[in-house]
Amino acid sequence: MVLLTSVDYNILKKQIYIDMDDVVSKTTDTYADIVEREFGKQVLFEQILTFDLRASFDLTENEFHYFFDLIHQPDHLFGFEPVEGSVETIVEWTHAGHCIEIVTGRPTSALEVSLEWLEKHGVPFDSFTMVDKYNRPGNDPAIAISKEELRRRTYDLAVEDSREMALFLAHTMGVSVALYDRPWNGQPINHEQVVRCASWQDIGEQLAWAGQTPV
Ligand SMILES: [Mg+2]
Repeated sequence: MVLLTSVDYNILKKQIYIDMDDVVSKTTDTYADIVEREFGKQVLFEQILTFDLRASFDLTENEFHYFFDLIHQPDHLFGFEPVEGSVETIVEWTHAGHCIEIVTGRPTSALEVSLEWLEKHGVPFDSFTMVDKYNRPGNDPAIAISKEELRRRTYDLAVEDSREMALFLAHTMGVSVALYDRPWNGQPINHEQVVRCASWQDIGEQLAWAGQTPV
């Protein structure tokens, strides 16, 4: 029988950053239908090649603001389905003693509905943080922290779909990142701490080496 000391347990227990949209909840999957209904434009999920939705859907400034408000309505956010395998993996990680931090760039107006959604789908977490990831106007600074504040935190692994945030986490914070493969983050990332993952099964496998300094 192998006895573990408290030091061993600290090494085994990992701090995990998990983004919410398009990592835990199927968010962008719902956009094409809305764009077709509201603006009569047909765009496939695979054609959403940039995180800038204005450009991906070829929307005018006014159309984009209308669309942005629509997709952040509480009823819409609450209706998302979970990404396949996400809840199961997060439950497993929690049972293994890892610390789960949900870190979202959603507008602060979405705080309550986001917490309700996580509860509805049985997503366990130790903390929930809103970060002003994309410098969006209208965020409540009493709720959302800045990227500078995020920078002071330490994580062993981050799960993201934003290429920009993946690079910030890996390059600026030195965090190992599992980048969920999506059409909008397809450009190559040449960073040894960012690993592209096609599924939550792939993401689960990244935890073994996460937090270790690459050689
Ligand atoms: Mg996301």
